[in-house]
This record gives sequence, C-alpha cells and structure tokens, in this order.
Amino acid sequence: MSDDKISMNHGAGGEVMANLIASTVLDNITKKSVNGGISLDALDDGASIPLGDWEIVVTTDGHTIDPLFFPGGDIGRISAAGTINDVSVMGARPLAISNAIIMQEGFPIDDLDKIMKSLNATCEEVDVAVVTGDTKVMPQDKLDGIVMVTTGIGIAKKGEVIRDSTLQVGDKIIVTGSLGDHGMSLMSFREGFGFETDLKSDVAPMWNIIEKALDVGGVTAMKDPTRGGFANAINEMASKAGVGVVLEQEAIPIREEVHAVSEMLGIDPFEVANEGKVVMGVKADKAEEVLEAIRSEKYGENAAIIGEVVEGDYVVINTPIGGERILEAPIADPVPRVC
Ligand code: MG
Repeated sequence: MSDDKISMNHGAGGEVMANLIASTVLDNITKKSVNGGISLDALDDGASIPLGDWEIVVTTDGHTIDPLFFPGGDIGRISAAGTINDVSVMGARPLAISNAIIMQEGFPIDDLDKIMKSLNATCEEVDVAVVTGDTKVMPQDKLDGIVMVTTGIGIAKKGEVIRDSTLQVGDKIIVTGSLGDHGMSLMSFREGFGFETDLKSDVAPMWNIIEKALDVGGVTAMKDPTRGGFANAINEMASKAGVGVVLEQEAIPIREEVHAVSEMLGIDPFEVANEGKVVMGVKADKAEEVLEAIRSEKYGENAAIIGEVVEGDYVVINTPIGGERILEAPIADPVPRVC
C-alpha cells in the first residue's frame, strides 16, 4: 500500500497514464481476452472477440470534456465520434454504441436535449445505432456537469482486423487531414481568444474515410491520434512495431490558425488531441490510390502522405532547412479535459 494519489496527468494519455495502467489495471485483471482475440494487454484502440468467420470489435470511452459546448462540437458529438473512431481504426464496421450518462443535479434539461441530438446526428453520419444506455444523477457538489461513457461495437471479417502495432518497413504514413485542430481550438476557446479565429474542433466520425481506404487495400496499421496527439500516436505505432519513421515536416498538414495559437500558447500542435483524424501505414504501391480515396471523402480533403517507415528506433522529422529532429511521445497531453 502507498499514499500515492491520482493526478490530472494520470488521465492525460501519455507515459504517466501508461505506467498507471500497467501497474494497477493490467496487474489486477486475470482474464483479458476471449477466443484468442485482441486482449486488454495490447492497449490497442479496441479489443476483438473472434466468433466463427467474424471478429467482434469492442471499445469504450469516458468523456469529461470542458466546456461541454465548444467550437465545432459538444460532448454528445465527441462521445459518439470518439468511440466510433476507436472501432473504425481497428478496421471494423461500427454497428452500435451504448451510452451511459452521469449528470450533476441541476443540469439543464435543454442542454441534455442538445447533447443527445448532436450524438444522434453524429451516429447518423455513419449509420450507427444507439442500442442501450444508462442514466444516473449525482448531488450538485459531487460532479461537474455531465460525464458520458460510450461503448462501441463493430464487426470485421476474421483476420482482417487492423492493429496499431503492425507498421512495416517501406510503408508510407498517411494522415487524413490537418493536425492539432481539436486541442488547439479547445485551448484557445478556454483562453478567451477563440472568438477571433475560425479555428474549430475537427471532431467527426472517420468510418466513411476508413471504409474507402480499406476498399483500396494495402492498409497495414491504423490509430486515431487523440490524447497525446500525433506525437503520441506515431511513436506508439513505431515502438510497438519495432520500426523507425521518417517524416517530412513540409508535408504534414497544419492550419495557419493552429500554428498561430500554438506559438501564442507555447504548445506543440503535434502533442494535442485530434478527434477527426486517422494515422495510417499503407503499402507504398497503394499509397497514392488510398490517398485519392480518402481525399474524395468529407473530412479527408487535406489528407497527405507525410513520411515512411524505416528500420530504426526513432520518429524523425526532416525540417525544411535540411535539419532533422526526433519527435518524442509527450509525457502527458498538455491540455487537460479535451475529450
Ligand atoms: Mg484510439
């Protein structure tokens, strides 16, 4: 036993959280997979349960975002999209979500109505059902507003589930659009200068884009760069696969406004959450075709090939002036309560 207590960093998606999960959750759970499916130990975006010719993919997410309504979305949209995306990046067609709502006594019913309409509209974009849920209320001084927990179920043909750990040397790295929009817009909104820019969250369901990419083929690995941002996602993908990645800075899409806000706040846009983006490894001979397919979809217009997988141990970025720097995984997301 110890007197150690949970800090905000323990929920921030970086190394501190990973260590906590390893020492508490993983050590205490004995059965972590079913039928040889993807287990809790994999710490992938979701797990899988093989059944006959199919694999059921399941994932779950708690949402504590502050504020509840922000430029580009709200807690309803992020609750649906976040879970749908974790299923989708496993290469599985999302079918349904469940939704548990825990509210503070005094929470406006009108706000709950808006949140549920938004959650529903997000599900409709990718034809996902809301099949079950739960509603709880806590006393006013025990909870801040509302917390939503969504669980997602999807399906893939057996053996066609895509991991975040399977990059191969020679693969191209594709991102489906500009990086840093969600974290930077949320931060600038909180700091009070959100009104002066048209920067908004990218929160969106990614299944339509992913389905197009899978139809082309050649996708070797996928991950959604949420907490800890792109820096965390690409480092996790590289280290799990035991490979290096070389990126071209000039090819990585980042909005002008994101650059501007990131300089004002001193926060790296690669280290903040994205809620409507996918990082993919794609076989080199399919990369251009996959890119075209993604760009033809809503939310995929700014997709780009940003680098490639090499033998090595690091994620390296080539800068426009001919230098290079190592992109490390952040210790924690620099912006708390982003999702
Ligand atoms: Mg994820």
